[in-house]
Amino acid sequence: MTVYITSIIRLFSIQRLSGQSRSAILWNPEKELFTELYQYPEHLRHTLENLPGSSGVYIFYGDDKAFPLYIGKSVNIRSRVMSHFRNPAEAKLLHMTRDIEHIETIGEVGALLLESDLIKTRRPLFNKRLRTARKLCSIRLQGLTASIVFSDDVDFSHSEDLFGLFKTKMSAVEKIRDIADQEKLCYGALGLEKLSKNRACFRFSLGKCAGVCCGKETPEAHQARLRSALSTLKIRSWPYPGRIAIVEEANGQTDYHVINHWFYLGTVKTLEAARAFDIAVPHFDRDSYKILCRPLFETDSSKVILLD
Ligand SMILES: [Zn+2]
Repeated sequence: MTVYITSIIRLFSIQRLSGQSRSAILWNPEKELFTELYQYPEHLRHTLENLPGSSGVYIFYGDDKAFPLYIGKSVNIRSRVMSHFRNPAEAKLLHMTRDIEHIETIGEVGALLLESDLIKTRRPLFNKRLRTARKLCSIRLQGLTASIVFSDDVDFSHSEDLFGLFKTKMSAVEKIRDIADQEKLCYGALGLEKLSKNRACFRFSLGKCAGVCCGKETPEAHQARLRSALSTLKIRSWPYPGRIAIVEEANGQTDYHVINHWFYLGTVKTLEAARAFDIAVPHFDRDSYKILCRPLFETDSSKVILLD
């Protein structure tokens, strides 16, 4: 009984304090717990009721439509948007939202590409995930050497010997160091520290280097362990002669997502329009690359049409 009275008092306090976004506490007889649910604000009720249960992108706006607050995607726009209203951490976003716009897509690939594109071009206040630096770096293995290269010097979509995508040089170095520690590789041979001539490195005396620095193993064996440890991070070079269209079909509709060297050019409704898309690829796009690897390599269902 005490719990019940306390909760009723909480219910009234929350309703008085929360203003537009009312909260309610519901009695759950099965669990004998009071569960707090965040309800959607009155002024958004009509918009929310009209959101479709199909895939696409949604945009939260505050007072100024020129600057979106948040952009998200889902295979079910309505249920995803509603889920934002059940998380106390998103209360600030909720209070600032005045309107929600949605753009339907035929499928999930279209939603992912559009979300990524809109986040880059419209830079919403609350999105952090896809706002990546344009300059990326990667680990290049050539012969017996390993080096760190940058996306403005090397074309990541054409190179066969790149492993991993990193936002900073420091994170790439950290990766090499982790692998060296796991695989007993030599910091000296990897260029992470200077080696004295004709002397084993300090980590060899600790048993942490297998001894490529003092002839205890061959440089080939050393490089093979590094390559093997990095193998899952290998960047796939663009496997097509030029542009492609990924075809997405549902409910009698078709979308053609036009891609060139991992860069998303746009989505159109006809193959003719897809062929007409021919703009220069400005830079390697990490987000498109990550989105597209799965439909192009890991699922058999994607239909790809070569445009060049
Ligand atoms: Zn060593």
